[in-house]
Amino acid sequence: MSRDPRFDILFQPVKIGPVTARNRFYQVPHCSGMGYRYPNAEAHLRGMKAEGGWAVVSTQEAEIHPTSDLTPANEARLWDDGDLPALSAVTDSIHTHGSLAAIQLVHNGLHVANRFSRMIPLAPSHSISDSLDPVQARAMDKTDIADMRRWYRSAARRAKKAGFDIVYLYAGHDMSVLQHFLSRRHNDRGDEYGGSFENRLRLFREIIDDTREAIGDTCALAIRLAVDELLGPSGITCEGEGKDIISALAELPDLWDVNLSDWSNDSQTARFSEEGYQEPYIRFVKSVTTKPVVGVGRYTSPDSMVRAVRQGILDFIGAARPSIADPYLPRKIEEGRIDDIRECIGCNICTSGDNTNVPMRCTQNPTIGEEWRKGWHPEIIATATTPEPALIIGGGPAGLEAARALAQRGVDVVLAEGGDEWGGRVARECRLPGLATWGRVCDWRVGQLSVRANAELYLHSPLSADDVLQYGIPHVAIATGARWRIDGVGRTHRRPLAFLTEGLLVSPDAILSAGAEAVPADGPVVVFDDDCFYMGSVLAELLAKTGRSVTFVTPESQVSPWSKNTLEQGRVQKRLIDLGVRIMTAKALAGRTKDRLELACIYSDKIDTIDCATLVPVTARLPDETLWLELKARDAERADAGIRTVTRLGDCLAPGLIAAAVYSGHQYARTYQDQIDRDTAPFKREDIARLYGRHA
Ligand code: ADP
Ligand code: SF4
Repeated sequence: MSRDPRFDILFQPVKIGPVTARNRFYQVPHCSGMGYRYPNAEAHLRGMKAEGGWAVVSTQEAEIHPTSDLTPANEARLWDDGDLPALSAVTDSIHTHGSLAAIQLVHNGLHVANRFSRMIPLAPSHSISDSLDPVQARAMDKTDIADMRRWYRSAARRAKKAGFDIVYLYAGHDMSVLQHFLSRRHNDRGDEYGGSFENRLRLFREIIDDTREAIGDTCALAIRLAVDELLGPSGITCEGEGKDIISALAELPDLWDVNLSDWSNDSQTARFSEEGYQEPYIRFVKSVTTKPVVGVGRYTSPDSMVRAVRQGILDFIGAARPSIADPYLPRKIEEGRIDDIRECIGCNICTSGDNTNVPMRCTQNPTIGEEWRKGWHPEIIATATTPEPALIIGGGPAGLEAARALAQRGVDVVLAEGGDEWGGRVARECRLPGLATWGRVCDWRVGQLSVRANAELYLHSPLSADDVLQYGIPHVAIATGARWRIDGVGRTHRRPLAFLTEGLLVSPDAILSAGAEAVPADGPVVVFDDDCFYMGSVLAELLAKTGRSVTFVTPESQVSPWSKNTLEQGRVQKRLIDLGVRIMTAKALAGRTKDRLELACIYSDKIDTIDCATLVPVTARLPDETLWLELKARDAERADAGIRTVTRLGDCLAPGLIAAAVYSGHQYARTYQDQIDRDTAPFKREDIARLYGRHA
């Protein structure tokens, strides 16, 4: 297949100062959770993006000095020459595939607590660190400013030595000293580095000059700037100082990378934004500079990309998440394989990796982060040498991914789903408010399976142990999913609560199947959320939007606290407040009558009693193991039936994220002939000392 000429414009080379990008696909700086602690993983991750056709591949932010120490976060580091081998491995890996390597230099200013280095954080003015640590940053004096400039110069020289083609100065996400100096919120200095706009810009100008001098004329200089902080007049706005900064510095860098701040505004999930959501804020940039402009907005459709270029909004299609979900996105467009694009669903499970200080994972792409450790390639799986057929039971994310990847390996695969639609939980959850894009998890896999001659797909096929034994297919994978508990058991209540059934009890599964109608329209509804991620809040949202009076009760101190890791917590809480949902925090369940619910304060003996006609407990799930247990009970018949292995996958093995189910299905497909219920391969670990050249 060849490329659709409509998309030719995306494959035009674009000059960035002294270097040239071979096309307009640009992987902007993004955290991977691999950073300096998992350097092999990092190098292989970035190399895969280059292989997939991204003309520019950037690192995550690189701390330039121990006074900018984000520990325990795991970003790139450029503190001294000892960091060079790890970063050279990254540039080598990117260059092998003909792409440009970019590095994002940062001093994090007041954003750090310097937990590891124990140095005092630095800021334009005395300010408390924006982590919750009881740490303050001190106001920089002129010596500190001179030091800061020197650290940037040294880091830029090292970046060049490590082989980077583009060196970034980062002033985004409220995480950089350069942005802190620019900001009236953070900078109340009375000297020539504070006060007027030009004064607040002074350090930035100086560091641009210093960096230019340090990198010479073979390396490009890029600026990543937050043009709007979504804080109104108390922050940078795209009509105000965002525009003024770009106008003032317009021709100084070789490239402008523009976005929203903070990170939760920049990387909004699909629950809260559409593809291209940053365009209203960044569209002015090209009118005030002649330099190429890159921006992001979860672009996965080539038509939207072409539009953004033709309308003069962007020169480069910037991507973090679309390049994570599909590192081969540019190549697929180039090769005319649009249907093969594995579109990002905008769920931010990727950001949860970095936010919990571990290598990232992705709902759509199970291979991300496993390029080095497991040697997984997002597009290639070795054909099975002696492919024995497999039967997959359950067409949710685990079963679909197992079947898809097995079919790709040349295995004859039968996929049986008991229900009348594909997707399992994904099919049900994507009907919830804001989660429509999650359907892509199913759609992409069904699309890929439908063109495979070696895959047979059957709906309306609930299989029993008799069926499985009768078919005698050598490898059987059970991906029958899980169901929400209705006995109250979860984190807070470890034993069943007998009183729950005193009044009407509706399980999340009933709402997932029947919609809001599963809950009577009259009478107060209580959603008790002990799960702490999205399900509790999204059910409350659905019920409130359909006119029900909803109280959201949680033992935690916030709504959906784990969604901090997906950068959604603030928006989730705001949405429930805006919908008029009553929020009660720090409460456990204590008792129930037909129309009242007793809530116990988790800190004291205080009991509250509230009206409750219907209770929806969102606590934990139980695997649907019926088929697994039946087959286990008849294990003696298995060999005679010709069945070699029986394996549980996904939620049926242990309920978890959709990403975990996809991963489980993928892992099975790679190892199915030896598969048992646990990982048996030795766990490959990074030998950091060797990579850093510090072995005795
Ligand atoms: P996972 O996330 O692990 O993929 P899901 O709950 O999304 O799990 O999907 C499980 C699927 O398995 C559901 O669509 C369900 O209808 C199906 N299923 C459950 N039991 C059987 C069975 N005995 N035969 C066929 N399909 C089944
Ligand atoms: Fe997109 Fe979700 Fe994957 Fe992140 S985890 S890249 S948001 S699909």
